[in-house]
Amino acid sequence: PSVPELEALQHEDVARLLPAPTGESDKYRRGVVGIVAGSARYPGAAVLAVAGALRGGAGAVRYVGPGGDAVIAHYPETLVHEGPPSKAGRVQAWAVGPGLGDGPGVADALASDVPVLVDADGLRLLDPATVRARTAPTLLTPHAGEAAALLGVDRAEVESGRLAAVRELAARYGATVLLKGSTTLVASPDQGVPVRVNPTGTPWLATAGSGDVLSGLAGSLLASGLDPRDAASAAAYLHGLAGRLASHGAPVTAHEVAEAVRGAWRDVV
Ligand code: AMP
Ligand code: MG
Repeated sequence: PSVPELEALQHEDVARLLPAPTGESDKYRRGVVGIVAGSARYPGAAVLAVAGALRGGAGAVRYVGPGGDAVIAHYPETLVHEGPPSKAGRVQAWAVGPGLGDGPGVADALASDVPVLVDADGLRLLDPATVRARTAPTLLTPHAGEAAALLGVDRAEVESGRLAAVRELAARYGATVLLKGSTTLVASPDQGVPVRVNPTGTPWLATAGSGDVLSGLAGSLLASGLDPRDAASAAAYLHGLAGRLASHGAPVTAHEVAEAVRGAWRDVV
């Protein structure tokens, strides 16, 4: 039987995927997500990625980078570290790249044996061979401009052929790829699997820092044990719904989107 090219996640699918703690759960079993983000130039990206991660269901969030003081000021529940990710203690998944500039940590996280989400500055200089050689899954979350840079084409080419672009990236990197934009697409490295299209969202999500929240949220779902395709599509679904809830047709900030994730989650389950 032929496999459809596209599929949309429904409310019930997402409800089934979202982690739900039980009596046997503890914070480690719920999953620890590590965030590598932020720099002197973009200190807010660290806070926003952590904000998303705290709403994504992991039992603990570790932040690794230079922005620990700002992160703690906003979210005292975060575990903060300086130094390389490999020295930060065990995590079940990493999300690396938002606002990182040319800061360190990407190669170290990629050398781990746990799932790694790579976004934003982490996508610069990302070598397909390094990603393909990983033993655990990798999830890339570019917007159209970042996807164009990875493919070595113009942004307009990605915009006019989004499905082909997301498939090509997934094949080239042997990774799951979430291509952001007015419709978000999620492609698997296995070309026989349909590309997922996210039905939620609002153009008000086109605001600074919005993608950083999505990275933390998807990283948290990865740490909770979802496979990369499910983590990426459930995160996009919740993020889009949270954007709508927070916006109600008016401008919205990335911080407010993160705060609205809980309401979106309640609406889904
Ligand atoms: P970034 O480009 O990394 O800041 O991420 C922007 C976020 O906003 C992603 O989740 C996009 O899918 C979302 N987004 C951007 N533009 C639109 C749009 N026109 N409609 C819906 N969502 C959008
Ligand atoms: Mg971004």
